[in-house]
Amino acid sequence: MLRRWLDSPWPYFIGAAILLVLAIASQFEVRLPPRSKESIDSIATLKERDDVNVVFILIDTLRADRLGLYGYERPTSPNIDLLGRTGIVFRHVISQSSWTKTSMASLWTSTLPANHGILRYSHALPDEATLPAEIFKAAGFRTAGIWRNGWVAPNFGFSQGFEVYMRPKPGRERANVQRGNPSSHPLLGTDEDLIRSAGDFLENFGNERFFLYLHFMDAHQYLYDASSAKFGTSYSDSYDQAILWTDLLLGALIDKLDRLGLLRETVIAIASDHGEAFQEHGREGHAKNLYAEVTGVPFIISLPFLLDPGIEVEATISNLDVWPTLLDLVGLDPLPNADGVSVLPLALEAGGGAPAEDGLRDRTIFGQLDRFWGNPKRPSYPIISVTEGNWRLMMHAENPKGLELYDRAEDPGESRDLVTDDEIPAKAESLLELANQYLADAKSPWGVDPKEVELDALKLEQLRALGYVIKR
Ligand SMILES: [Zn+2]
Repeated sequence: MLRRWLDSPWPYFIGAAILLVLAIASQFEVRLPPRSKESIDSIATLKERDDVNVVFILIDTLRADRLGLYGYERPTSPNIDLLGRTGIVFRHVISQSSWTKTSMASLWTSTLPANHGILRYSHALPDEATLPAEIFKAAGFRTAGIWRNGWVAPNFGFSQGFEVYMRPKPGRERANVQRGNPSSHPLLGTDEDLIRSAGDFLENFGNERFFLYLHFMDAHQYLYDASSAKFGTSYSDSYDQAILWTDLLLGALIDKLDRLGLLRETVIAIASDHGEAFQEHGREGHAKNLYAEVTGVPFIISLPFLLDPGIEVEATISNLDVWPTLLDLVGLDPLPNADGVSVLPLALEAGGGAPAEDGLRDRTIFGQLDRFWGNPKRPSYPIISVTEGNWRLMMHAENPKGLELYDRAEDPGESRDLVTDDEIPAKAESLLELANQYLADAKSPWGVDPKEVELDALKLEQLRALGYVIKR
């Protein structure tokens, strides 16, 4: 009987089915990436190695405080948590804006918004700007950027240095994809398309040294697979669900790197351009102001080996420091004209190494948003944030009364404005001076103004699909 059964095709069908289930499950399994445990001394040796690749994961619209690693009570981020707990986590990171284009221009070029000047919907980075991909390319890396947000499209100057810079073709969607974002024009495809394209790139170029940038969008769109939904139905719940979905896709990417034998020679960095508001200051979404919920972002570095314990950096840093740090880590040339610095010494210190210079701590951090970035008929209206130690100032440049001061130590959510009708605290006055100086000192790092680009109807429609109101 057994013999006959074994001779029949059924055991093979069943075996194949089990393997298929295991293969699917392993994509979404959370486990320690198979890398050796090493001490912090190995961090310094990365500079000398000639085999280290960099995968830069930009998760659009990712609030740090919605990740388990940053203290969130819901299990939204098992894979990200694991990467952080065995690597380096910067616990307090401030983005330079709450709108993708301004924020990404600062992140990539490590220059302040007032300096790069990419503040309006038609502004583009000039060719004179230097982006990290150009440095990787000059150092002999294969470079690829795969993105799903139209604000980082090539016409805005973000493709500089990438051999391949592409929006992945939308594939067949799962039947149970849910889009929680109220946008009336859904962005086509999902981040599964991004993972598929990344897999193709790794299979073809993984045997050479590479720099791969992946710009995830499903958290921005509150998109997730409804069959795994467990967090409720509000916008905020859907956003959490989308973070979990993104985290699981990231797990599939790590699995791919593992299967190609690349984990022991790849740095994986995770960052975001801004957060997302859920009525903390009376608004939903982002790109409207600069409060903590839209500028508190993660920065996590997973090394080609595991740290046990991982390193947690408490000092507040900014997105300007992300690329100076990563280029320093792998021993490449720094970005010219950077306003940020490598904060790697802070990580080494936190891991028990030599003390970092005091100047790396409590640096003054500026942020900027043009409130009318999407409306060419309205003049520029800058909102400036200044963060210094515990203190955070919001300045509405066109409104002399538009000052707000928050004590981040007592009030991390920035809900109690210390500027009242009766009193402007001295701290607000001193930070206001810094804000005015920041605007007065504005100077292009490249000696040229931002490029102005024309957006045709199709491009505008693609950008509106992200849920932004853009006027003509
Ligand atoms: Zn964004």
